[in-house]
Amino acid sequence: MDKHAAARLLDTIASYQELKGENPFKVRAFSNAARAVDGFAGDFDAALATGALAETKGIGRATLEVVREYASTGRSTLLEELRREIPDGLVEMLRISGLGVTKIRTLHDQLHISTVAELELAARNGRLAALPKFGEKTAEKILRGIEFLRRTSAFRLSHRARRAAEQLRAAVAGLPGVDRAEVAGSVRRRLEISRDVDLAVCLRGGTADLEAPLAALSQVREVRRTGDSAFALRLDDESQADLYCAPPERFGACLVRATGSAAHLDTLAAYARTRGLSLAAEGLVRGASAVPCPDEEALYAAIGLPWIPPELREGGEEIARAAAGTLPALVEQHDLKGLLHCHSVYSDGTNTVAELAEACRAAGYRYLGLTDHSAAAAYAGGMREDAIARQHAEIDALNRGWNDFRILKGVEADILADGALDYTPEILDRFDFVIGSVHSRMEQDAATMTQRVLRAMDDPHLTIIGHPTGRLLLGRDPYPLDLDATLARAAERGVAIEINGDPQRLDLDWRRCAAARDAGAAISIGADAHSLAGLENTAFGVGIARKGWLEAKDVLNTRDAEGFLSYARKR
Ligand SMILES: [Zn+2]
Ligand SMILES: [Zn+2]
Repeated sequence: MDKHAAARLLDTIASYQELKGENPFKVRAFSNAARAVDGFAGDFDAALATGALAETKGIGRATLEVVREYASTGRSTLLEELRREIPDGLVEMLRISGLGVTKIRTLHDQLHISTVAELELAARNGRLAALPKFGEKTAEKILRGIEFLRRTSAFRLSHRARRAAEQLRAAVAGLPGVDRAEVAGSVRRRLEISRDVDLAVCLRGGTADLEAPLAALSQVREVRRTGDSAFALRLDDESQADLYCAPPERFGACLVRATGSAAHLDTLAAYARTRGLSLAAEGLVRGASAVPCPDEEALYAAIGLPWIPPELREGGEEIARAAAGTLPALVEQHDLKGLLHCHSVYSDGTNTVAELAEACRAAGYRYLGLTDHSAAAAYAGGMREDAIARQHAEIDALNRGWNDFRILKGVEADILADGALDYTPEILDRFDFVIGSVHSRMEQDAATMTQRVLRAMDDPHLTIIGHPTGRLLLGRDPYPLDLDATLARAAERGVAIEINGDPQRLDLDWRRCAAARDAGAAISIGADAHSLAGLENTAFGVGIARKGWLEAKDVLNTRDAEGFLSYARKR
């Protein structure tokens, strides 16, 4: 049982209960349980089997039973009951940003709105704005939310798409006649969001023998042929998967085609033509004869190119650079010496400082840059002065126990509405480094927001700008900000720009990484971990850095602790 899927189930139950008007304590219990399950550190399956899960803080007997039923049957009676009692449209409205459960209930009770279409009408004709506590602004925000929902609803965040792709890959790889199956498409290119899953399948036999076994897979609802050697699957969550099949001697070409992007493949095919080759669904062909390409390296080599990392295959300069022999040596996970941006129980994290440090040390990092929230982030339990003193004493004590690892005293300080950093200079002096982030008043206009961030960089305590555009993928657009001005100032002041690895953020966007580097700003890859599981966010951040053409030397936390600290102190 995947604990994230269990957490999503509990979250959904909590919102459905709230939509239905259940007792708030009951609702709170389920949403707390969802957080606890999501951050659960041990062996989840074992804890589920023995019932030990019910002893975990925030999780009780009722939650355990719900998760157990879901794990063994794939269903939840409680969720299904709730679902029957709530109109479909209300559930859909939950996905519109700016529209919480309370507002949805008001709309339903007072205007009898129960579909998104009715909501859109009411937002346009002024009825919605006339409701108490709604107004013009809310109506506009809801219309933007509806537009956003339409634009994004078929997409999934990268970590979910990756999990779905990996599950399907494992199932397909086990079918008779299948030599191997590989995840391809946008997931392999490590795009921040994905619509469909793409797989490349290496087959010993013909595709005719694959159709029935595919249809028999538990997650497959429907199999359609989309070509001589391709299938489209409709899956049980209504998403689609495309399968591209090839025999072993053509598998490399198949994997390249299944990985894409369309723009990369077009440029690649054009480059191949200049060398008398054609790249088509059947593989790579010279004249009338097929060129064997058992792997991707063989295909690129036949065209006269080095292998191109999937993250770069977006149809930019990658083929020209490959031809010139100047592809970058992209940063890799093992280049990172420090894990940065991590929250403990001192603010809104679920693990202790010692637990986080041990996990980082075990993962091979040389240092942990701990950054709990500052006091202004009261919603996240930001640290008051006494908490800072206690945390620093705890860090000092832990650091005395290691000679191969250390915890750096950092903080994620709010950038306040006027651009000042939260905390006085005397307090900021006590930290080894400071991440400054915007967490409030995100509705400011572009000029105000830009001034705010530029002013924050005037403070010599600031080391890194956290999640620089504030976007939430599939949830909230970036706040308006002159990013070019921000990057230029960051370079001038010696402030680093974060790539936040939280799969919901992945901010800075990969499309702007090269601009940040070229402006002269250092990039720091941050986990923004709130639990042990969140430490793995770093891998998503590395994916974005690679997608943004960054090398190890461009990334601040590939430096050792002294190198990192001297960067922070130089200000
Ligand atoms: Zn933050
Ligand atoms: Zn954070």
